[in-house]
Amino acid sequence: MVRLFAFLCSIALSTAAVAQDKVILVGNLITDADTGSSGPATILVRDGKIISVSAGTRGAADTDAEVIDLSDKTVLPGLIDLHVHLTGDPGGDFWKEATEPSEWGVVVGAKNALLTAKAGFTTVREAGSSQYSAFSLRRGTAEGKIPGPRIVAAGPALAIVGGHGDTTGFTEDINEHLASGYSCTGAVECAEKVRKASRAGADIIKITATGGVLSQQGRGLEAHFTDVEMKSIADTAHSLGLKVMAHAHGARGIEAAARAGIDTIEHGTYLDKQAADAMKANGTVLIPTLMAFQGISERLGKGIYTPIVENKVRAVAETAKVFMGRAYRWGVPIAFGTDAGVFDHGRNAEELGLMVGQGMKPQEALASATTGAAKALGMEDQIGRVAAGYSADLIAVSGNPLEDVTILESVDWVMVRGRIID
Ligand SMILES: [Zn+2]
Repeated sequence: MVRLFAFLCSIALSTAAVAQDKVILVGNLITDADTGSSGPATILVRDGKIISVSAGTRGAADTDAEVIDLSDKTVLPGLIDLHVHLTGDPGGDFWKEATEPSEWGVVVGAKNALLTAKAGFTTVREAGSSQYSAFSLRRGTAEGKIPGPRIVAAGPALAIVGGHGDTTGFTEDINEHLASGYSCTGAVECAEKVRKASRAGADIIKITATGGVLSQQGRGLEAHFTDVEMKSIADTAHSLGLKVMAHAHGARGIEAAARAGIDTIEHGTYLDKQAADAMKANGTVLIPTLMAFQGISERLGKGIYTPIVENKVRAVAETAKVFMGRAYRWGVPIAFGTDAGVFDHGRNAEELGLMVGQGMKPQEALASATTGAAKALGMEDQIGRVAAGYSADLIAVSGNPLEDVTILESVDWVMVRGRIID
């Protein structure tokens, strides 16, 4: 009986702990990157959601809620990274594909989910993982079993046979054996793979529309899928309510992807005016991943990459320093994404400084990682702002990131869905 009573009490206590309101006292609030900061405020959080945001911090002391004092900090919406690979760490040993089971990705991913959340990223878009490891991670952070950001996950990427995203670099029988099951040829088979990804649990479809830098294929960086295949992928995904993100470097591949109705272009390295115009006409958003280029440049000449990859890295290095600025001046919509996993997880916010370095204003860079990224996900009514009804995804920093975005490279406090990350 005593044990039953203790058991019931522990249920009551744990329920109370989950349900307890949190009152956050804020020194300076940025509700929305577009509107700027508004001074001291009080935020009430209940069941993972923001219930109210009121000006000033007085009067909050007489409450039963847990009080979190951030009155010496700037509090802003949690950051959103639209391109990460949580289940992998930088390395370059392509043969690991043959030695590491996909389950290992969940372990690596749990470590990286925590690093990413601590860096101030409360939502990430998983841009391609080994089989379905990202789906388990997604559930883990959603249920609070492991600390980490909200995960919008693609699962394995669709690729052409032998293209970036397909298994390459081994003998043919090994390539076949290691294949993810998501390469496709022709409109019908590509539509089938989109439906298969949807059935497996994908929130978004990832495709590799052109060649890539870090794979062992040496067939250039231009369009790999045909126009018909890309159109089939985009139409099929949209019919299922899913968006499509396309890895693309070459200009004609970017243009073709935009015309096919692909929603976001990842990297976009060799974007020219014609491709930019196609993106603007179709509302296609560029995700520049400048940190990917930074990360691979740091690894050059160290014997990490194979010669075929080293050559490709050297070829893109100079363009990587200017292409986002060009797209920005042409008026292409840009949202924040880094390609974390190509560089060390947790350095995601360094992307903001690189974006400003290519001509964006700090406020625009911050908007690209909050309101802009939320819109690219179709989640602008849930995340990216500090407002009543939104998810309690909040971060705190010392100083004003609207003046200096590099302040966001050191985040002091993070809350994801009302849970404090520590
Ligand atoms: Zn990537």
